[in-house]
Amino acid sequence: MKKLLSLNLDNLQEKQLQGLQWSVKHAYNGSETYRNKLDELNLKPDVVQSMDDLKRLPFTSPKDLTDGYPFPLLSVPIENVSRIHTSSGTTGKRKVLCYTKKDIQDWVQFFTRCFEFAGLNAEDRVQIAVGYGPWTAGISFQTACEAFGAMAIPAGPGDSETQTEFLIDFQSTVLCCTASMGLLMSEEVQRKGIRDQINLKKIIYGSERSSDLMRARIKSNLGITEMYDITGMTELYGPGTGIECSYNNGIHYWSDYYLLEIIDPETLEVLAPGETGEMVVTTLKKEAVPLIRYRTHDRSALIAEPCPCGNLFPRHERLQGRTDDMFIFRGVNIYPSQIDTLLGNVSDIGSEYQVLLNKIDGKDNFTLKIERDQYKDSSIDPNITVFIRSLIKNKIFVTPDVEVVEYGSLPRSVRKTKRVTDLREP
Ligand SMILES: [Zn+2]
Repeated sequence: MKKLLSLNLDNLQEKQLQGLQWSVKHAYNGSETYRNKLDELNLKPDVVQSMDDLKRLPFTSPKDLTDGYPFPLLSVPIENVSRIHTSSGTTGKRKVLCYTKKDIQDWVQFFTRCFEFAGLNAEDRVQIAVGYGPWTAGISFQTACEAFGAMAIPAGPGDSETQTEFLIDFQSTVLCCTASMGLLMSEEVQRKGIRDQINLKKIIYGSERSSDLMRARIKSNLGITEMYDITGMTELYGPGTGIECSYNNGIHYWSDYYLLEIIDPETLEVLAPGETGEMVVTTLKKEAVPLIRYRTHDRSALIAEPCPCGNLFPRHERLQGRTDDMFIFRGVNIYPSQIDTLLGNVSDIGSEYQVLLNKIDGKDNFTLKIERDQYKDSSIDPNITVFIRSLIKNKIFVTPDVEVVEYGSLPRSVRKTKRVTDLREP
């Protein structure tokens, strides 16, 4: 298996500049939407002379992708498109993304790095428990796994009965899934008492925010030590655009394929490393649908320090939810990731929680339901309730009603777990 991980930094900046220059010209010449955006700002397709010129370029938004349905921002003749994918369309109209043959080759190429970062080899058996269909997940895990040279087991996100059967019968060493499904599977393995019949070593998980507590729970249920958070969104190829290394201290991302900026979503100013804001991506090689400063609405921060693993690919923080996840309670802006972080330091609770916002007697009410630890009984509930109420009051400045419930009683999902239910009138 050839080593893919080395990144030649001498050439990188030069290549990034060339890639950016090419992308802007290509988008301008190929797509009316991009042409109009640049023309409106009186920018010529050769506007990029140095990397500093990136911030002069107009933003692209998810709306640009839905407005152009079915083939938005297409920048090559349609006969050059060799595959399309759609987003799962959780909010509003689905987005359709086109890929040329080279786009797909590029995607497979950088996705194989993810398997290398996670320390896989040809002997690994990779149970791919993500969605197959029009989405980007199944097919990209599959093709990259095959190109990498490990064994692909295309399980799909099906029922846990089939998943555990595969884990036992095929002795899968790696499970690829959402964090929610990882939790579900780990509980299933524990419930069935089949831990010593399986051979699972690693989980590669992604597509949603996960808390430290949730990961710790999955690891201890399965008796594994390695979990790797993989990133990717349909607009930017799909899964595989970055992954954690074994230090689990941030996502290494492929800066030879795309640029990442973090902006303040209100002022649109570019933020410094360490400051949390909205991720904005610009592709350097994408042919069919290049992205110029695409606003992802995902929240993260760049990490300036080099990673102790020694790899030179830059890092960003784990995704901290979406800018549109935020809810406002009595004038306070709250992100579910803040609650994750606080609960991560509380003992005797499970990883799952739900926020319920409603009106009681005309007043806004915030209920936080939390699962008690699997091995504790309800005698600890009053203490947990008091502790969490004051913790949240001191750190987030709102006071929720805390309700402690049985372990396993909150909803589990094989996809993304919905944490916040808002029943207040708009
Ligand atoms: Zn690293």
